[in-house]
Amino acid sequence: MLMLNNYKVTQVKNTEIRLFQTANIVADLYKENIDDFVFTRMMVRSYGKQGNARILVLDSNKRVLIDNHHSYIDNVLDNEEVKKSLNGESASNLYTIKDKEILQLSVPIILNKEGNINVIGAVLISADMVSINNNLDNLKGDILKISTSALLVSLVLTVVATNNLTKPLRRLTLGVEKISSGDLGYRVEKKTNDEVGKLIETFNKMSNTLSKIEKNRKNFINNISHELKTPLTSIKVLIESLSIGNNDVETYKEYLEDIHGETERMEQLVNYLMKTIKLEDTILNLKKENLSTILEDIVKLIAPYANKNEVSINFNASNDIEVQCDKNKIKEVIFNIVDNSIKYKDDKKEDNYVSITLEKAENNAILTIEDNGIGIDEGKLEDIFKRGFRIFEGHVDKKIRIEGYGIGLAIVKNILDKHGWQVSAKGNPGLGSTFIIEIPLV
Ligand code: ADP
Repeated sequence: MLMLNNYKVTQVKNTEIRLFQTANIVADLYKENIDDFVFTRMMVRSYGKQGNARILVLDSNKRVLIDNHHSYIDNVLDNEEVKKSLNGESASNLYTIKDKEILQLSVPIILNKEGNINVIGAVLISADMVSINNNLDNLKGDILKISTSALLVSLVLTVVATNNLTKPLRRLTLGVEKISSGDLGYRVEKKTNDEVGKLIETFNKMSNTLSKIEKNRKNFINNISHELKTPLTSIKVLIESLSIGNNDVETYKEYLEDIHGETERMEQLVNYLMKTIKLEDTILNLKKENLSTILEDIVKLIAPYANKNEVSINFNASNDIEVQCDKNKIKEVIFNIVDNSIKYKDDKKEDNYVSITLEKAENNAILTIEDNGIGIDEGKLEDIFKRGFRIFEGHVDKKIRIEGYGIGLAIVKNILDKHGWQVSAKGNPGLGSTFIIEIPLV
């Protein structure tokens, strides 16, 4: 509304200037053609038409000499503007007559004869403001139309934008509901690359990881149950056999030894389970150690087992590598990796080996444990360090089954992470596997 008021004030000012100009032109015209009254009257009529205004020329007695509408000729007009102009001043006023706004102004007709200044009359001019008010009304209408359309457009845009934003969010909410109701691995379709798209991508990754963890957990429980069931069944059968009939002491001894063996297997398994549960609580006892000495100890310890499985150990280590570590935990790490290399040897090959190499690099030491066993599929490499993950899950009940619970490498990763040592694996099915540990030097 303020804008419209400003617009009106400017328009009235402009009309006022235009009427003043016309009035002065008429005043000059009258002065210069005082003898040619007919010409002046004709010109006044023409100016009146052009400016859509009423123009009166009065003499010094306020008597109307010229009126472009004729009706006031010879009348005496005694209004404020005329009075002021006959005193030599210009004057203007805005009147409201019968709901109509009228701008009225007058200028003096001044004759300057040899220094004598005489006011010989006045030009009174008036114009109504209908056109300005019409313009104003049109403008109001236009502004209303423009703002209504703008409102509509912005409303439509808001609805479209909101819908575009909420649709994927609704799909995402459904996804979250699916996950919380147990549908792990549920995927939400990603249609855009914006922030919401990225959120959907992260959601899908999370869903995939959850489903893998769940699968590992099921496999793990499956394996453990199987492992516990086997010795339990043996023990049950052995006890049942002993309880039937009269057995001699030797038979009792023999059966009891078997039962002892089975309980030892079970004890080992339970220890393993407890270790898994305690994985996060591992506390390190860090000391400065010579890593090659630690490796030598392990090689000595594992050599008979490797021999028994017909796997040769190649050992090569620079002996000046000092590191900060928990000796027993690091022994456990290397033992687990080497044990796997022996366990996953390739029976089709004549010579099976595991090579343990320790060398100094620029800023660290590199420990490489390489075997020519069955190898690891590249796609499985990112999972082997996860708790409960095993590649040979399907073989649990088959003869070619290789014992294990998918815990060894999870322990390896946990201990190495706590040391701040990096571990990575490479594998080539049929060729072998390599585990690389990057160790910071002290
Ligand atoms: P597991 O008790 O099953 O051996 P690990 O956590 O030690 O559990 O290893 C996880 C999986 O990684 C194994 O089941 C096996 O499939 C694979 N793996 C580990 N080391 C080797 C290796 N040297 N050669 C081939 N496969 C390996």
